[in-house]
Parts: sequence; C-alpha cells; structure tokens
Amino acid sequence: MTARLDEPLRRALGTRSANALEKLGVRTVGELLQHYPRRYGDPGRLTDLGGLALGEHVTIVAQVQHATVRRMRNRPGAILEAVVTDGPRQLSLTFFAKHPGALRYHEDRLTPGRLGLFTGVVGDYRGSRQLAHPDYKIIGMDDDADDAESAVLEASRPIPIYPASASIPSWKIQPAVRTVLDPLREQDVPDPLPESVRTRHGLGTRLQALRDVHEPYDEQQWRRGRDRLRLEEAFVLQAALAVRRARADAEPATARAPRGVDDPGILAAFDASLPFTLTGGQREVGEQVAEDLARSRPMQRLLQGEVGSGKTVVALRAMLQVVDSGGQAAFLAPTEVLAAQHARTLRALLGPLAEGGLLGGAEEGTRVALLTGTLGAAARKEALLDAASGAAGIVVGTHALLSENVQFADLGLVVVDEQHRFGVEQRDALRAKARTSPHLLVMTATPIPRTVAMTVFGDLETSALTEIPAGRAGITTHVVPAANEAWTRRTWERVREEVAAGHRAYVVCARIHPDDPDTADRSTGRGAAGGSDDFDELPDFLLEQGEAEGERPDRVPLRAVLEVAEELRGSAALAGVEIGILHGQMPAADKDAAMSRFASGEVPVLVSTTVVEVGVDVPEATVMVVHDADRFGISQLHQLRGRVGRGTAPGLCLLVSTAAPGTPAATRLDTLARTTDGFELAAVDLELRSEGDVLGAAQSGRASSLRLLRVVKDADVIATARVDATEVVADDPGLASHDALRDAIDEQLDPQREEFLERA
Ligand code: ADP
Ligand code: MG
Repeated sequence: MTARLDEPLRRALGTRSANALEKLGVRTVGELLQHYPRRYGDPGRLTDLGGLALGEHVTIVAQVQHATVRRMRNRPGAILEAVVTDGPRQLSLTFFAKHPGALRYHEDRLTPGRLGLFTGVVGDYRGSRQLAHPDYKIIGMDDDADDAESAVLEASRPIPIYPASASIPSWKIQPAVRTVLDPLREQDVPDPLPESVRTRHGLGTRLQALRDVHEPYDEQQWRRGRDRLRLEEAFVLQAALAVRRARADAEPATARAPRGVDDPGILAAFDASLPFTLTGGQREVGEQVAEDLARSRPMQRLLQGEVGSGKTVVALRAMLQVVDSGGQAAFLAPTEVLAAQHARTLRALLGPLAEGGLLGGAEEGTRVALLTGTLGAAARKEALLDAASGAAGIVVGTHALLSENVQFADLGLVVVDEQHRFGVEQRDALRAKARTSPHLLVMTATPIPRTVAMTVFGDLETSALTEIPAGRAGITTHVVPAANEAWTRRTWERVREEVAAGHRAYVVCARIHPDDPDTADRSTGRGAAGGSDDFDELPDFLLEQGEAEGERPDRVPLRAVLEVAEELRGSAALAGVEIGILHGQMPAADKDAAMSRFASGEVPVLVSTTVVEVGVDVPEATVMVVHDADRFGISQLHQLRGRVGRGTAPGLCLLVSTAAPGTPAATRLDTLARTTDGFELAAVDLELRSEGDVLGAAQSGRASSLRLLRVVKDADVIATARVDATEVVADDPGLASHDALRDAIDEQLDPQREEFLERA
C-alpha cells in the first residue's frame, strides 16, 4: 500500500471521527475505503420493516407517518412517539426528555411525509417493535449541502448504508469516506488486478471502483463497482493459493512407492488382516493417495469425510505404504485424548503388526509411538527414542510433536486429523522436521462445500469419502424446548431406556461450573488452573454468537456440567444409574479414567463439555442430550451428535433449546433436526452467517479480508478468478511484475484462512 492509504485517520479526519471509526476496527484511509457499504437505501424504496429482529442494530430507510409529544402518565417527564412506515408496516420511535420543550427539536424534524434513515437497536414494547432514542437523519436535511438543488440531488441518489454502530451512524461514515476519497489520484491506489485481467473483463481501476461503491449516482454504478471489488477479492485469494501450490510443487519430496506383489510388506499384511472390506470410496481415495506418495513432489491432499466414514483406515494404509518404503509417518490429533485414542485404535487395527521388534510381533511389523505432553519421563524417553531411531514407523501426538526435541529418523508423511484445530504454521513446523518435504494428508470431518474448498483450501487437492460403512443405524435428532416440562421428562426417560438396554448416554453442557461467567466461550476453561491447553475450547464463531445474543436481557443462564450431573444423580428418572463427568479442567488421568469407565459401561451416563466433540468413539453410545444447544453452531452440533449411533443401534440426539421460534438459533437447530447431510449443513451454516437484509451489529466492523465475496453465492466469481489467477501466476510465479498483487496477498491470505479454520 502506498503512504496515502496507510495514513492514519486521526491525521486525515481528526481525532473525533477517527476515534468513532476505530471502534469499527477502521484505522487508516485504506481501511476506511474498504469499509464498504453493506447495502444501499433507495429513497424511492423503503426498508421492509417486517424483517427486523429483536436485539439487532439496524439502519433503515422509512417515511415518517406522525409524531406526538405528551407527558408521561405515571412519572415526570415527556415522551415523543413517532411512527415511521415502509408502507404496509409501522415501527415506532420513542424519545424521552424531562420537559416537552426538549423534544421540540425532534418534533420539528419528524414531520409526516419526510423520509429518513433511522438507526438503533430493535426493542420490544408491548409486543411491537420499536427503536428507543434512535439516531436518525432526515434525507435532504442536516448535510453540508444546504442549497435546495443538492438536497434534491441527494434525495435521488442511492444511499450507501455502512456497517455502523452506536458510536457512529452510517450517515456520518459517508462524509468521512468522501473526505478521504475525493483527493485520491490513480497512483495513490495500487490495483492488485493486473491490467490484462481488467481488460479481459472490461473492468475499471480500483480507484474507480471505490468511487462507484462509495459515491454512486445510480444502482448500476454501485453494482459495477461492487462486482469489480468482489472479483478482486476472489482473484487475490486465488493468486495466493496458486503461489502456494507452485511453491509446494517445486519442493523436492522422497517418492514412497508401494511394494510390488513379489515383495509384500506391512501394508499387504495389513490388508490381508482387515476384518471388513474397504468401501468403494476408501479404495478410490486410497489409490489416489498411493499415487501421490509415489511422486517426488510432496502430496498436499485434503480428505473430507463425515464422522465415521472411515478416514482412519485410509490414513493408516497411507502410513503403512511409507513405512514399507523405509520412512516414518507422524499422525497429529487435535487433543491428547484423541491422540491417545488414535494410538489405541491404530495398535488395535494393526494387531501383531504393531509389535515390530518385539517377541511375538509380526516379522514385517513396526511400532506405534504415542508422544503427548502428559507422558511420564520414562515413557516419553522411550517414545522419543523410537521416533529418532525409526523403530516407530508411526508416531502419534498432538502439538507436542512439533517441539524441537522430537526427532525422526526419516519422516515421510504427516497426517493431520481434524485440520481445523491446526494452524498453517504448525503444519509448516512439522514439515521442517524432515530432510525432504514430507507428504501431507489433512483429514477433516467438517464437510466443506466445493467453493469453500476452492477458496480456503485451494492449495490442497481434495478427496471425499461420501459413503458411510455399512451396518450403521443412523441418528434421529429432535429439538426439545427447555421450558416444556413434558418433553424434558421424556428426555430423561429416553436416557433411562437406553441405559436399561445396555447403551450409553452423553449429556453435553456449554460450561463447567455454574458460577463460571455466563458466556459459552469461557465455559470450558482455557488456561484454567493447570488444565491441559489443547482441550475443548469452543470455536470462535460460537463466541461471536454468544456475544451477540448475550446482549439480550432475557437470556437464561447456561447449564453447567457440575450442576447438571448433581441434578441427574438426585433425579428420580435416573435413580440408580451411575453418572460420570468429563471436562477440560480435569487432570489427564481423570479424563482417561472417566472415558474408559464410560466406554466399558460401568458409568453409562457421561455429563461433559464439548470434549466429546471430535473423534471419540464409543459404539454403545446411542443418545446425546445437548443443553443450551441454541448456543452452539451447526457444524459443532453435527460433530457432537456424530458421537452417537456409531454402532448397530440407532442414535438419538436431543437438542435442548431456549431459542425463540424464528430466531437464527432456532433455524440452525431445525436444520439439524431435518438433515444429517453434512454438505447441506455446511452450506446452510454459511448462508446463515452471511448478513440478512438489515445490518446486524455482530456483523459490522469485523476485520475480515473477505468483505464482499460470499463463498456460497459467488461460486462463479471464484471459478473465474481461479482461472485468471492461475494464468497470471504461471506466467510470473514470483509475481515480480505484480507489486500490488504481492502486497495484497501478504495482507489477505492468512487472516482469511485462519478465520475460516477457527470458525469451522
Ligand atoms: P472417521 O475417522 O472418518 O470418523 P473412523 O476411521 O474412525 O471414521 O471409522 C469409524 C469406524 O468404522 C471404525 O470403528 C472403523 O474401524 C470402522 N470402519 C472403517 N472402515 C470400515 C469399512 N470399510 N467397513 C466397516 N467398518 C469400517
Ligand atoms: Mg477420525
């Protein structure tokens, strides 16, 4: 960016405006210019007042119907009640003051027939929506242009409506943008879109596009500008990914070709010992992976597959191919519990093949080492030795595997399970542990729609396991209104019935202690007393929802593990049933013990936080009750319920909710109850997160590099940009003659990607 765009707003606009804008995360001229209008008001078309959601910060275009001032009935003071309309519907505005005279100012302006922009938090008064003390602007009044002609002109132009907040309304952002935009010249605004791409699509410069979106004369103009900026975002992302792909392709890797039939190794022995036949998908993906591994450039593959689709076997077969060629594989899991579980699973699947070098072990066997932060000194030393000597063909662990003192004899493959908990740098750190760049297989159970895969994981080749191995009974999901006593009673009866049938039940709560802060985000205790640090935090998007919804006064407190476990122990419905607990603040040994007592059936009901979210596998678990389900995101609930119905008995998931019908939270839960198709859920999830027609406070001012691009809706733009970007990068892989593009990439890629990973 040039100096011009880097200029702090404090200098360009003065402290007052700059401070207000800073609350929206906007600090520099460049950032203000990228604070694009959320939408445009049309003075001839009013905002649909039917779409206003309680608690939301909105900006609307409406017409004043009438306004009256009166004294309050039961208290001193005066009230002005105005009614504005979109035609069929009304919304009331109220202003309070000590004396009627103090309301004269508003009364003079809010005269019938006038059009205005009104902004505030949507409240409820006796069943109807209202804005209390809204900020507003009457169109044609209040601006610097005080002559009639410019008032008329202004009244006919689209009104940019900016993501705003209580600290600064949309119409004060508009003049600020004008102040910084008007003096700019072409050379002040570098354009990441190369001229060749602009010419191909008949697009103007970036500066023109900024003028188009911020100061349009008509709808066509802002649409043109917005489309061009959207393509630019897609292009920069795709160019970044193309650069990454090109860079990875250029790295040398050791080819790990599969053994031939006349020289069978551990993979062949394993295949022969498998108690089930591979699904078609497992075979197909397995072949792709086998080919990738046999090349001398690093595999970069993302394997998606629903929970239970059998990704572990695919990964294990890839690891064995590498072991067969003399190399080692590292298997990274997001938590210690999962790492330990994976090590157990892998050893069980391998049987005698995992006892390489031991008496009674298979001749072609290897060893599976587990390396986590909680190992005792002796066990740790042994695992480190096995990794360094190569005795362990497979090393399973968490982030601990990334620590400097873990050495491998010959690391050939890195498998990352549940990618969304691992950052890009961590992956790179692990890859740095090998002589040549290791092959990489990333696995995720979060289904990723095609365009998201192209956008966020565009530097990885993707494969998917779409079928679930036969013999799974599936799962039914119901929403249980928390206030409905009959349903609640039935919920615990169902739990009791399942337990009586020899099954297990999970009860999931959003926080641990009843006196923890009443926000879902801190509920599971990151950094809490000595707890392990890689455990069970809720993802950031939940935190976001929690905050937005937490502003509402009518929230009931979140249920907590300790409290719910106590209640259930004392309840008649579950009398005589052992009830265990599991959460991230428990010492690792207690967690393991709780998990194995649950798995064995000794304690058939487990009240826990979201620790059970990823990968935990207890086939006898058939029912899951999720408290405060409305505070969780779609993909997390989908992951959670994937814990039940994994065996041959059908699963049941009961989502206990306090969400009012029609709210986004209720819609999320209804969607989950309707479908178990992970791809559909992922798409709905993305849709629900993009903005509605009115401005939501939770949406405004978030520092995201994707401002205009919507990965679900803009599939065409993304595809076009991908073609353009691939071409530009192929011609100039170092982007030597594309300074602006290079700068834009540095700025954009990482935050975007990390943001998705955190949310997913
Ligand atoms: P994921 O990691 O994709 O959630 P897993 O790899 O843990 O799924 O597999 C879930 C369960 O299904 C495991 O118990 C595994 O042994 C079993 N499984 C995997 N592949 C098959 C198959 N082809 N047929 C039957 N069972 C399978
Ligand atoms: Mg798994």
